[in-house]
Amino acid sequence: MMCSFCLNENGPEALVCGSCARDIAVPKSLLAERDDLIRKRDAVLRELAKAKAEIERLTRRTNSRSA
Ligand SMILES: [Zn+2]
Repeated sequence: MMCSFCLNENGPEALVCGSCARDIAVPKSLLAERDDLIRKRDAVLRELAKAKAEIERLTRRTNSRSA
């Protein structure tokens, strides 16, 4: 199993990388969960960007009104 951190080639049953000592055995369920979390995070980031743009729009409008 190749280490995704340092690309060291380890034995197929290796749980920890022999080179950088990081965990390389990741259960498939965890990978699926991670993918799901990444998708959710992306959705949240899009919502956040929208909210920021909206706040900026409202702030500009308020500033130009008071100026
Ligand atoms: Zn490694």
